[in-house]
Amino acid sequence: MIKNDFKKKKVLVVGAGAAGIMAAIKAAETGAEVTLFEKNERLGKKLGITGKGRCNLTNDCSVKELVANMPGNGKFLFSSLSRLNSQKTQELFTNWGVPLKVERGRRVFPSSDKAADVILALRKRLEELDVKVIYNQRVTALLQADNEIIGLKTSDGVFSGQAVILAAGGSSYPTTGSTGDGYQLAQEIGHQIIPLKPALIPLQTESIYKKDLQGLSLRNVSVSIATESKVLGQEFGEMLFTHFGFSGPVVLTLSRLLLNWNGSSPRYLKIDLKPALSFEQLDLRIQRDFLKFKNRAFKNSLNELLPKSLIPVIIEMSKIDPDKPVHSVTREERLYLIDLLKNLSFRISGTRPLAEAIVTAGGVSTAQIDPKTMESKLIKNLYFAGEVIDIDGFTGGYNLQAAFSTGFTAGYFAAID
Ligand SMILES: Cc1cc2nc3c(=O)[nH]c(=O)nc-3n(C[C@H](O)[C@H](O)[C@H](O)COP(=O)(O)OP(=O)(O)OC[C@H]3O[C@@H](n4cnc5c(N)ncnc54)[C@H](O)[C@@H]3O)c2cc1C
Repeated sequence: MIKNDFKKKKVLVVGAGAAGIMAAIKAAETGAEVTLFEKNERLGKKLGITGKGRCNLTNDCSVKELVANMPGNGKFLFSSLSRLNSQKTQELFTNWGVPLKVERGRRVFPSSDKAADVILALRKRLEELDVKVIYNQRVTALLQADNEIIGLKTSDGVFSGQAVILAAGGSSYPTTGSTGDGYQLAQEIGHQIIPLKPALIPLQTESIYKKDLQGLSLRNVSVSIATESKVLGQEFGEMLFTHFGFSGPVVLTLSRLLLNWNGSSPRYLKIDLKPALSFEQLDLRIQRDFLKFKNRAFKNSLNELLPKSLIPVIIEMSKIDPDKPVHSVTREERLYLIDLLKNLSFRISGTRPLAEAIVTAGGVSTAQIDPKTMESKLIKNLYFAGEVIDIDGFTGGYNLQAAFSTGFTAGYFAAID
């Protein structure tokens, strides 16, 4: 029999998000004939809204730090993150015509601040490599025979291939196309799905003050999540009050601590409004303000200390008579006020639903995937990439880096024999 060495390996990729596009590019660069199936009418819908439309595509740090910032199975990712690390990812995008910049917290963005530029560059690269992209095509089943992948089924027909890469994303922000199809496709051919939970998710409160605080954004605050007796974690940075409770980078990061919380015991969000000052330093500062405004009513004495919309809330919580002249505020009342400013506490009533999560925790069990190649341990020539896998990271570019790295790895191994 003549060996068909000249024939290219046919690789089918499910999902044109960050992971699937990178997988398709790498498979094509490695020499495969690649078809990319996307159920939307265009590429990278979710990619387009990342980083508030600016796309924080990676974090400029070491592989070890990338792993440490992936609380959901970071160690599983070590090999793929080493194959395509942050610096190599930045090099790729720069070479594809997307100049990059590094911001606070080593977050990497396109210099143009436009996620659309990232998508354009990826589309151009797919075209250069002759990757066939089929839009409006929903993959409905993965086909296997004798535990080896043979192709897939879509809304329009059956496609055969020697390798399939499943990169259908997670189950959050469903309007972007991530509706959880990938979990079902993997489960139908024998894979275990670790229960899905929202990670990086805004938090809700029933606090009577939430309406007053809605829209307030706090910078340089120290926020923690605590039980009645113990602080579970603390972050410094920016947070936002919303109509339902709390959001913003620090809150999203801390929300990971509530992944396994079932609501049976209370959890609190605590804000240190003045983390740069110790209790004593803040006391001195307030005493100075009180001296300066000694004849003012208490309610008019906090203007230089706090944002406007926070003042009535703090005044009410402090239980100090708002009309009392500042000079007659007692020491005890002042110390209570300082405690409030250092430990402003709200009871958390729950997280927002999975559909609103920045990333889905849970997914295809990492125990059933070879971490070196991203190949299924159950079905030969089936590969996984991106959020469909049971992985999740903090904010800061880690999730996209994981998507790119697993896509790159799956693309390479799917394309070679
Ligand atoms: C608002 C928001 C902001 C974010 N910002 C950042 C950020 O700045 N930095 C960062 O690192 N991470 C960010 N993330 C997380 C990051 O976007 C995801 O982790 C990442 O996009 C996952 O990539 P993916 O390719 O695995 O999945 P997706 O990007 O979800 O892509 C999956 C694709 O598969 C397609 N698909 C699904 N099912 C099928 C099917 N049956 N047939 C065909 N196609 C299918 C979908 O339409 C979709 O296009 C953000 C997430 C959100 C929601």
